[in-house]
Amino acid sequence: VHSSLPRCARLLSTSSRCRTVMPAWVIDKYGSNEVLRFTKNASFPIINYPNEVIVKVFAAGLSPIDVAMRGGYGAATLSMKRDPLNIKQSGSEFPLVLGRDVSGVIMECGLDVKHFREGDEVWAAIPPWKQGSLAEFVLLSANEVSHKPKCLSHIEAAAIPYVATTAWSALVNTGGLRKDNCANKRILILGGSGGVGTFAVQMVKAWGAHVTVTCSQNAEQFLRGLGADHVVDYTAGPVEEPLSALEKFDLILDNVGGDTESWALKLLKPWSGAKYVTLVTPFMQNTDRLGVADGMMQSAATVASKALKHLMKGVHYRWGFFAPSGCALDEIRDMVDAKQPPWLDVSGDVMASYIYTYTHIQLTPTPKIRPVVEETFSFSQVPQAFEKVEKGHARGKTVVQIS
Ligand code: NDP
Repeated sequence: VHSSLPRCARLLSTSSRCRTVMPAWVIDKYGSNEVLRFTKNASFPIINYPNEVIVKVFAAGLSPIDVAMRGGYGAATLSMKRDPLNIKQSGSEFPLVLGRDVSGVIMECGLDVKHFREGDEVWAAIPPWKQGSLAEFVLLSANEVSHKPKCLSHIEAAAIPYVATTAWSALVNTGGLRKDNCANKRILILGGSGGVGTFAVQMVKAWGAHVTVTCSQNAEQFLRGLGADHVVDYTAGPVEEPLSALEKFDLILDNVGGDTESWALKLLKPWSGAKYVTLVTPFMQNTDRLGVADGMMQSAATVASKALKHLMKGVHYRWGFFAPSGCALDEIRDMVDAKQPPWLDVSGDVMASYIYTYTHIQLTPTPKIRPVVEETFSFSQVPQAFEKVEKGHARGKTVVQIS
Protein backbone atom coordinates (compact mmCIF):
# COMPACT_ATOMS: atom_id res chain seq x y z
CA VAL A 1 0.00 0.00 0.00
CA HIS A 2 2.80 2.35 0.94
CA SER A 3 4.63 2.03 -2.36
CA SER A 4 1.42 2.71 -4.31
CA LEU A 5 0.96 6.11 -2.65
CA PRO A 6 2.16 9.22 -4.52
CA ARG A 7 5.73 10.25 -3.77
CA CYS A 8 4.55 13.23 -1.73
CA ALA A 9 2.44 11.00 0.51
CA ARG A 10 5.44 8.82 1.20
CA LEU A 11 7.45 11.90 2.14
CA LEU A 12 4.96 12.44 4.96
CA SER A 13 6.24 9.66 7.15
CA THR A 14 4.15 8.44 10.05
CA SER A 15 6.81 9.87 12.35
CA SER A 16 5.50 13.38 11.63
CA ARG A 17 2.19 12.38 13.24
CA CYS A 18 3.95 11.69 16.53
CA ARG A 19 5.49 15.14 16.58
CA THR A 20 4.40 17.85 18.96
CA VAL A 21 6.54 20.69 17.58
CA MET A 22 7.50 22.07 14.17
CA PRO A 23 9.60 24.88 12.68
CA ALA A 24 7.74 28.17 12.13
CA TRP A 25 8.13 31.93 12.01
CA VAL A 26 6.02 33.41 14.81
CA ILE A 27 5.37 36.73 16.50
CA ASP A 28 4.93 37.03 20.29
CA LYS A 29 3.71 40.65 20.18
CA TYR A 30 2.68 43.16 17.54
CA GLY A 31 5.31 45.45 16.04
CA SER A 32 7.69 45.96 13.15
CA ASN A 33 9.93 43.37 11.51
CA GLU A 34 11.99 42.65 14.61
CA VAL A 35 9.04 40.86 16.26
CA LEU A 36 9.41 38.01 13.76
CA ARG A 37 11.02 35.03 15.50
CA PHE A 38 12.08 31.68 14.05
CA THR A 39 11.44 28.69 16.28
CA LYS A 40 11.77 24.96 15.89
CA ASN A 41 9.27 24.50 18.73
CA ALA A 42 5.98 25.92 17.41
CA SER A 43 2.97 23.80 18.39
CA PHE A 44 2.22 21.08 15.88
CA PRO A 45 -1.41 21.43 14.69
CA ILE A 46 -3.98 18.99 16.05
CA ILE A 47 -7.22 18.00 14.32
CA ASN A 48 -10.04 19.09 16.64
CA TYR A 49 -13.02 18.70 14.30
CA PRO A 50 -13.81 15.86 11.88
CA ASN A 51 -13.81 18.17 8.82
CA GLU A 52 -10.26 19.44 9.38
CA VAL A 53 -7.08 18.59 7.49
CA ILE A 54 -3.41 19.13 8.26
CA VAL A 55 -1.40 20.35 5.27
CA LYS A 56 2.37 20.09 4.94
CA VAL A 57 3.37 23.50 3.61
CA PHE A 58 5.62 23.55 0.54
CA ALA A 59 5.19 27.26 -0.27
CA ALA A 60 3.51 30.23 1.43
CA GLY A 61 2.38 33.53 -0.08
CA LEU A 62 2.81 36.87 1.69
CA SER A 63 0.37 39.77 1.32
CA PRO A 64 0.04 43.32 2.66
CA ILE A 65 -2.38 41.94 5.28
CA ASP A 66 0.50 39.91 6.81
CA VAL A 67 2.51 43.09 7.28
CA ALA A 68 -0.56 44.83 8.72
CA MET A 69 -1.36 41.92 11.08
CA ARG A 70 2.26 41.86 12.25
CA GLY A 71 1.58 45.42 13.44
CA GLY A 72 -1.72 44.51 15.17
CA TYR A 73 -4.21 45.27 12.37
CA GLY A 74 -7.55 43.59 13.04
CA ALA A 75 -6.46 42.29 16.46
CA ALA A 76 -9.83 42.99 18.17
CA THR A 77 -11.96 41.56 15.37
CA LEU A 78 -9.78 38.50 14.90
CA SER A 79 -9.63 37.81 18.66
CA MET A 80 -13.42 37.81 18.75
CA LYS A 81 -13.52 35.33 15.88
CA ARG A 82 -10.93 33.06 17.56
CA ASP A 83 -12.57 33.29 20.98
CA PRO A 84 -16.24 34.35 20.60
CA LEU A 85 -17.05 33.81 24.29
CA ASN A 86 -14.07 35.92 25.35
CA ILE A 87 -12.85 33.21 27.73
CA LYS A 88 -9.15 33.47 27.00
CA GLN A 89 -6.76 36.11 28.32
CA SER A 90 -5.75 38.98 26.06
CA GLY A 91 -2.69 38.02 24.03
CA SER A 92 -3.77 34.36 23.80
CA GLU A 93 -3.28 34.52 20.01
CA PHE A 94 0.52 34.45 20.52
CA PRO A 95 2.73 32.90 19.32
CA LEU A 96 0.98 33.87 16.09
CA VAL A 97 1.95 32.44 12.70
CA LEU A 98 1.36 34.73 9.69
CA GLY A 99 1.05 33.82 5.98
CA ARG A 100 -2.31 33.57 4.22
CA ASP A 101 -1.55 31.40 1.17
CA VAL A 102 -0.50 27.77 1.21
CA SER A 103 0.40 25.26 -1.43
CA GLY A 104 1.29 21.85 -0.08
CA VAL A 105 0.27 18.27 0.53
CA ILE A 106 -2.43 16.79 2.78
CA MET A 107 -0.79 15.04 5.69
CA GLU A 108 -3.79 14.01 7.75
CA CYS A 109 -7.58 14.13 7.33
CA GLY A 110 -10.37 14.30 9.93
CA LEU A 111 -12.89 11.46 9.95
CA ASP A 112 -15.55 13.33 7.93
CA VAL A 113 -13.21 14.51 5.15
CA LYS A 114 -14.37 12.90 1.92
CA HIS A 115 -12.78 14.88 -0.92
CA PHE A 116 -9.13 14.69 0.12
CA ARG A 117 -6.70 11.91 0.92
CA GLU A 118 -3.25 11.93 2.45
CA GLY A 119 -0.74 12.88 -0.22
CA ASP A 120 -3.13 15.05 -2.29
CA GLU A 121 -1.53 18.24 -3.56
CA VAL A 122 -3.68 21.17 -2.40
CA TRP A 123 -3.81 24.94 -2.17
CA ALA A 124 -5.78 27.22 0.12
CA ALA A 125 -6.27 30.76 1.37
CA ILE A 126 -6.06 30.73 5.15
CA PRO A 127 -8.52 32.93 7.08
CA PRO A 128 -6.70 35.61 9.10
CA TRP A 129 -8.10 34.29 12.40
CA LYS A 130 -6.27 30.97 11.88
CA GLN A 131 -2.59 30.13 12.26
CA GLY A 132 -0.84 30.88 8.95
CA SER A 133 1.43 29.13 6.50
CA LEU A 134 4.89 30.36 7.56
CA ALA A 135 5.30 27.00 9.27
CA GLU A 136 5.97 23.41 8.27
CA PHE A 137 2.32 22.42 8.78
CA VAL A 138 -1.02 24.24 8.89
CA LEU A 139 -4.52 23.23 10.05
CA LEU A 140 -7.49 24.05 7.80
CA SER A 141 -11.14 23.13 7.33
CA ALA A 142 -11.59 20.88 4.32
CA ASN A 143 -14.04 23.40 2.81
CA GLU A 144 -11.23 25.98 2.67
CA VAL A 145 -8.96 23.63 0.69
CA SER A 146 -8.90 22.71 -3.00
CA HIS A 147 -6.80 20.44 -5.20
CA LYS A 148 -3.99 22.56 -6.60
CA PRO A 149 -3.65 23.19 -10.36
CA LYS A 150 -1.62 20.40 -11.92
CA CYS A 151 0.24 22.77 -14.23
CA LEU A 152 1.72 24.88 -11.41
CA SER A 153 4.65 24.31 -9.06
CA HIS A 154 3.98 24.85 -5.35
CA ILE A 155 5.73 28.24 -5.52
CA GLU A 156 3.53 29.35 -8.41
CA ALA A 157 0.39 27.97 -6.74
CA ALA A 158 1.11 29.83 -3.49
CA ALA A 159 0.89 33.14 -5.39
CA ILE A 160 -2.81 32.73 -6.11
CA PRO A 161 -5.25 31.65 -3.33
CA TYR A 162 -5.55 34.74 -1.10
CA VAL A 163 -5.72 37.31 -3.89
CA ALA A 164 -7.88 35.03 -6.03
CA THR A 165 -10.48 34.33 -3.33
CA THR A 166 -10.51 38.04 -2.49
CA ALA A 167 -11.04 38.98 -6.14
CA TRP A 168 -13.65 36.20 -6.47
CA SER A 169 -15.54 37.38 -3.41
CA ALA A 170 -15.46 41.02 -4.58
CA LEU A 171 -16.23 40.44 -8.25
CA VAL A 172 -18.50 37.38 -8.15
CA ASN A 173 -20.24 37.40 -4.74
CA THR A 174 -20.42 41.18 -4.34
CA GLY A 175 -20.12 42.43 -7.92
CA GLY A 176 -22.39 39.79 -9.48
CA LEU A 177 -19.97 38.85 -12.28
CA ARG A 178 -19.97 35.32 -13.72
CA LYS A 179 -18.18 33.72 -16.60
CA ASP A 180 -21.36 33.89 -18.69
CA ASN A 181 -22.31 37.55 -18.07
CA CYS A 182 -18.99 39.35 -18.60
CA ALA A 183 -18.83 39.47 -22.39
CA ASN A 184 -18.86 43.11 -23.50
CA LYS A 185 -18.93 44.41 -19.92
CA ARG A 186 -16.56 47.30 -19.30
CA ILE A 187 -14.60 46.80 -16.10
CA LEU A 188 -12.21 49.23 -14.42
CA ILE A 189 -9.64 47.93 -11.96
CA LEU A 190 -8.06 50.68 -9.87
CA GLY A 191 -4.63 49.44 -8.79
CA GLY A 192 -3.99 46.68 -11.33
CA SER A 193 -0.34 45.88 -10.68
CA GLY A 194 -0.45 44.29 -7.20
CA GLY A 195 -1.53 40.87 -6.01
CA VAL A 196 -5.32 41.32 -6.26
CA GLY A 197 -5.14 43.45 -9.42
CA THR A 198 -2.98 41.06 -11.44
CA PHE A 199 -5.36 38.21 -10.66
CA ALA A 200 -8.56 40.22 -11.20
CA VAL A 201 -7.41 41.49 -14.62
CA GLN A 202 -6.78 37.96 -15.83
CA MET A 203 -10.02 36.56 -14.41
CA VAL A 204 -12.40 39.08 -15.96
CA LYS A 205 -10.41 39.05 -19.21
CA ALA A 206 -10.73 35.26 -19.37
CA TRP A 207 -14.50 35.78 -18.98
CA GLY A 208 -14.59 38.11 -22.00
CA ALA A 209 -14.80 41.54 -20.35
CA HIS A 210 -13.16 44.70 -21.67
CA VAL A 211 -10.64 45.62 -18.95
CA THR A 212 -9.22 49.05 -18.11
CA VAL A 213 -6.64 49.34 -15.32
CA THR A 214 -4.82 52.10 -13.50
CA CYS A 215 -1.19 51.62 -12.49
CA SER A 216 2.20 53.33 -12.55
CA GLN A 217 3.66 54.01 -15.97
CA ASN A 218 6.36 51.34 -15.48
CA ALA A 219 3.69 48.62 -15.03
CA GLU A 220 1.86 49.33 -18.29
CA GLN A 221 3.50 46.63 -20.46
CA PHE A 222 3.28 44.13 -17.61
CA LEU A 223 -0.50 44.66 -17.35
CA ARG A 224 -1.04 44.59 -21.09
CA GLY A 225 0.75 41.22 -21.04
CA LEU A 226 -1.82 40.01 -18.49
CA GLY A 227 -4.67 41.01 -20.77
CA ALA A 228 -5.55 44.64 -19.93
CA ASP A 229 -7.18 46.33 -22.93
CA HIS A 230 -6.57 49.88 -21.75
CA VAL A 231 -4.04 51.13 -19.21
CA VAL A 232 -4.10 54.52 -17.50
CA ASP A 233 -0.99 55.83 -15.71
CA TYR A 234 -2.05 57.27 -12.35
CA THR A 235 1.32 58.95 -11.84
CA ALA A 236 0.87 61.24 -14.87
CA GLY A 237 -1.65 63.56 -13.17
CA PRO A 238 -5.17 63.31 -11.72
CA VAL A 239 -6.22 59.90 -12.99
CA GLU A 240 -9.94 60.76 -12.99
CA GLU A 241 -9.41 63.09 -15.97
CA PRO A 242 -8.33 60.47 -18.56
CA LEU A 243 -10.80 57.98 -17.05
CA SER A 244 -13.70 60.46 -17.40
CA ALA A 245 -12.99 60.72 -21.12
CA LEU A 246 -13.63 56.98 -21.59
CA GLU A 247 -16.95 55.19 -22.13
CA LYS A 248 -18.58 54.54 -18.76
CA PHE A 249 -18.06 51.29 -16.86
CA ASP A 250 -20.28 48.43 -15.66
CA LEU A 251 -18.12 47.61 -12.65
CA ILE A 252 -15.21 49.20 -10.80
CA LEU A 253 -12.96 47.20 -8.46
CA ASP A 254 -11.05 49.59 -6.19
CA ASN A 255 -7.78 48.19 -4.76
CA VAL A 256 -6.46 51.66 -3.94
CA GLY A 257 -8.93 53.41 -1.60
CA GLY A 258 -8.16 56.87 -0.23
CA ASP A 259 -10.10 59.54 -2.07
CA THR A 260 -10.95 57.35 -5.09
CA GLU A 261 -14.59 56.95 -4.09
CA SER A 262 -15.05 60.73 -4.25
CA TRP A 263 -14.73 60.56 -8.07
CA ALA A 264 -14.84 56.90 -9.18
CA LEU A 265 -18.61 56.33 -8.93
CA LYS A 266 -19.19 59.04 -11.55
CA LEU A 267 -17.43 56.73 -14.04
CA LEU A 268 -20.19 54.09 -13.78
CA LYS A 269 -23.13 53.76 -16.21
CA PRO A 270 -26.08 55.12 -14.18
CA TRP A 271 -29.40 53.26 -13.83
CA SER A 272 -27.97 50.09 -15.36
CA GLY A 273 -27.08 48.02 -12.27
CA ALA A 274 -23.44 49.20 -12.43
CA LYS A 275 -21.43 48.60 -9.24
CA TYR A 276 -18.43 50.07 -7.44
CA VAL A 277 -16.77 47.51 -5.12
CA THR A 278 -13.96 48.68 -2.86
CA LEU A 279 -11.59 46.37 -1.02
CA VAL A 280 -10.20 49.20 1.06
CA THR A 281 -12.71 49.62 3.87
CA PRO A 282 -12.53 50.95 7.44
CA PHE A 283 -14.19 47.79 8.84
CA MET A 284 -11.19 46.43 10.78
CA GLN A 285 -10.00 49.88 11.90
CA ASN A 286 -13.48 50.60 13.27
CA THR A 287 -13.59 47.42 15.37
CA ASP A 288 -9.97 47.87 16.48
CA ARG A 289 -10.69 51.46 17.53
CA LEU A 290 -14.23 51.23 18.91
CA GLY A 291 -14.49 47.59 19.99
CA VAL A 292 -16.36 44.88 18.15
CA ALA A 293 -20.00 45.92 18.79
CA ASP A 294 -19.58 49.68 18.29
CA GLY A 295 -17.13 49.19 15.44
CA MET A 296 -19.56 46.95 13.56
CA MET A 297 -22.39 49.44 14.14
CA GLN A 298 -20.20 52.25 12.84
CA SER A 299 -19.25 50.22 9.74
CA ALA A 300 -22.87 49.26 9.06
CA ALA A 301 -23.98 52.89 9.35
CA THR A 302 -21.16 54.10 7.06
CA VAL A 303 -21.73 51.56 4.30
CA ALA A 304 -25.53 51.90 4.45
CA SER A 305 -25.46 55.69 4.16
CA LYS A 306 -22.99 55.60 1.27
CA ALA A 307 -24.94 52.86 -0.52
CA LEU A 308 -28.16 54.90 -0.19
CA LYS A 309 -26.51 58.12 -1.36
CA HIS A 310 -25.16 56.46 -4.51
CA LEU A 311 -28.33 54.45 -5.13
CA MET A 312 -30.19 57.74 -5.53
CA LYS A 313 -27.72 58.54 -8.35
CA GLY A 314 -28.39 55.18 -10.02
CA VAL A 315 -25.22 53.25 -9.09
CA HIS A 316 -24.42 50.64 -6.45
CA TYR A 317 -21.78 51.15 -3.76
CA ARG A 318 -20.38 48.02 -2.03
CA TRP A 319 -17.57 46.90 0.29
CA GLY A 320 -15.70 43.75 -0.74
CA PHE A 321 -13.96 41.33 1.60
CA PHE A 322 -11.71 38.30 1.42
CA ALA A 323 -13.73 35.11 1.87
CA PRO A 324 -12.01 31.71 2.21
CA SER A 325 -13.56 29.21 -0.20
CA GLY A 326 -12.40 25.84 -1.46
CA CYS A 327 -15.25 25.90 -4.02
CA ALA A 328 -14.04 29.20 -5.52
CA LEU A 329 -10.52 27.77 -5.65
CA ASP A 330 -11.86 24.69 -7.49
CA GLU A 331 -13.22 26.96 -10.23
CA ILE A 332 -10.04 29.02 -10.27
CA ARG A 333 -7.98 25.81 -10.51
CA ASP A 334 -9.99 24.77 -13.57
CA MET A 335 -9.31 28.17 -15.17
CA VAL A 336 -5.58 27.88 -14.43
CA ASP A 337 -5.37 24.32 -15.75
CA ALA A 338 -7.53 25.07 -18.82
CA LYS A 339 -5.27 25.89 -21.71
CA GLN A 340 -6.27 27.87 -24.74
CA PRO A 341 -4.74 28.01 -28.21
CA PRO A 342 -1.88 30.53 -28.54
CA TRP A 343 -3.82 32.69 -31.02
CA LEU A 344 -6.19 33.44 -28.16
CA ASP A 345 -3.33 34.41 -25.89
CA VAL A 346 -4.51 36.52 -22.92
CA SER A 347 -2.18 39.31 -23.97
CA GLY A 348 -4.73 39.98 -26.69
CA ASP A 349 -1.91 40.45 -29.19
CA VAL A 350 -3.49 38.16 -31.75
CA MET A 351 -1.20 38.98 -34.67
CA ALA A 352 2.02 38.65 -32.66
CA SER A 353 0.79 35.35 -31.32
CA TYR A 354 -0.13 34.17 -34.84
CA ILE A 355 3.27 35.12 -36.26
CA TYR A 356 5.04 33.52 -33.32
CA THR A 357 3.07 30.33 -33.73
CA TYR A 358 3.76 29.91 -37.43
CA THR A 359 7.37 31.03 -37.44
CA HIS A 360 8.31 28.81 -34.53
CA ILE A 361 6.01 25.93 -35.63
CA GLN A 362 5.07 25.56 -32.02
CA LEU A 363 1.52 25.26 -30.80
CA THR A 364 2.01 25.56 -27.08
CA PRO A 365 -1.30 26.40 -25.43
CA THR A 366 -1.20 29.21 -22.89
CA PRO A 367 -3.08 29.19 -19.58
CA LYS A 368 -6.07 31.51 -19.21
CA ILE A 369 -4.73 32.59 -15.84
CA ARG A 370 -1.11 32.48 -14.84
CA PRO A 371 0.52 33.07 -11.47
CA VAL A 372 2.48 36.29 -11.09
CA VAL A 373 5.37 35.55 -8.73
CA GLU A 374 7.39 38.72 -8.33
CA GLU A 375 10.01 37.39 -5.92
CA THR A 376 10.71 34.16 -4.04
CA PHE A 377 12.42 33.87 -0.66
CA SER A 378 13.70 30.85 1.28
CA PHE A 379 12.26 29.92 4.69
CA SER A 380 15.29 31.49 6.40
CA GLN A 381 14.60 34.79 4.60
CA VAL A 382 11.09 35.44 5.94
CA PRO A 383 12.07 38.84 7.47
CA GLN A 384 13.43 39.94 4.06
CA ALA A 385 10.18 38.77 2.44
CA PHE A 386 8.22 40.99 4.89
CA GLU A 387 10.52 43.92 4.07
CA LYS A 388 9.84 43.40 0.37
CA VAL A 389 6.04 43.41 0.84
CA GLU A 390 6.26 46.38 3.21
CA LYS A 391 8.07 48.50 0.60
CA GLY A 392 4.93 48.34 -1.60
CA HIS A 393 4.99 48.84 -5.39
CA ALA A 394 4.17 45.16 -5.81
CA ARG A 395 4.14 43.64 -9.28
CA GLY A 396 2.32 40.45 -8.40
CA LYS A 397 3.10 38.30 -5.34
CA THR A 398 5.90 37.51 -2.92
CA VAL A 399 6.29 33.80 -2.11
CA VAL A 400 8.30 31.91 0.54
CA GLN A 401 9.55 28.40 -0.19
CA ILE A 402 9.02 26.40 2.99
CA SER A 403 10.24 22.92 2.00
P1 NDP B 1 -0.47 45.09 -3.30
O1 NDP B 1 0.40 45.82 -2.36
O2 NDP B 1 -0.05 43.76 -3.81
O3 NDP B 1 -0.75 46.00 -4.59
C1 NDP B 1 -1.10 47.34 -4.56
C2 NDP B 1 -0.75 47.89 -5.95
O4 NDP B 1 -1.36 49.13 -6.17
C3 NDP B 1 0.74 48.06 -6.17
O5 NDP B 1 1.10 47.39 -7.35
C4 NDP B 1 0.92 49.58 -6.31
O6 NDP B 1 2.00 49.81 -7.21
C5 NDP B 1 -0.43 50.00 -6.85
N1 NDP B 1 -0.85 51.36 -6.53
C6 NDP B 1 -0.55 52.08 -5.43
N2 NDP B 1 -1.20 53.28 -5.47
C7 NDP B 1 -1.92 53.28 -6.61
C8 NDP B 1 -2.81 54.23 -7.21
N3 NDP B 1 -3.08 55.41 -6.62
N4 NDP B 1 -3.41 53.91 -8.37
C9 NDP B 1 -3.15 52.72 -8.99
N5 NDP B 1 -2.31 51.77 -8.47
C10 NDP B 1 -1.72 52.07 -7.29
O7 NDP B 1 -1.90 44.96 -2.62
P2 NDP B 1 -3.04 43.85 -2.90
O8 NDP B 1 -3.29 43.78 -4.35
O9 NDP B 1 -2.75 42.60 -2.17
O10 NDP B 1 -4.28 44.53 -2.16
C11 NDP B 1 -4.86 45.72 -2.71
C12 NDP B 1 -5.68 46.41 -1.62
O11 NDP B 1 -6.78 45.59 -1.26
C13 NDP B 1 -4.88 46.68 -0.34
O12 NDP B 1 -5.26 47.94 0.15
C14 NDP B 1 -5.37 45.60 0.60
O13 NDP B 1 -5.29 46.00 1.94
C15 NDP B 1 -6.81 45.44 0.15
N6 NDP B 1 -7.34 44.10 0.44
C16 NDP B 1 -8.51 44.04 1.12
C17 NDP B 1 -9.07 42.83 1.42
C18 NDP B 1 -10.38 42.78 2.12
O14 NDP B 1 -10.79 41.71 2.63
N7 NDP B 1 -11.12 43.89 2.19
C19 NDP B 1 -8.38 41.57 1.07
C20 NDP B 1 -7.18 41.76 0.32
C21 NDP B 1 -6.68 43.00 0.02
P3 NDP B 1 2.73 51.25 -7.35
O15 NDP B 1 2.79 51.86 -5.96
O16 NDP B 1 4.11 50.96 -7.88
O17 NDP B 1 1.90 52.01 -8.31
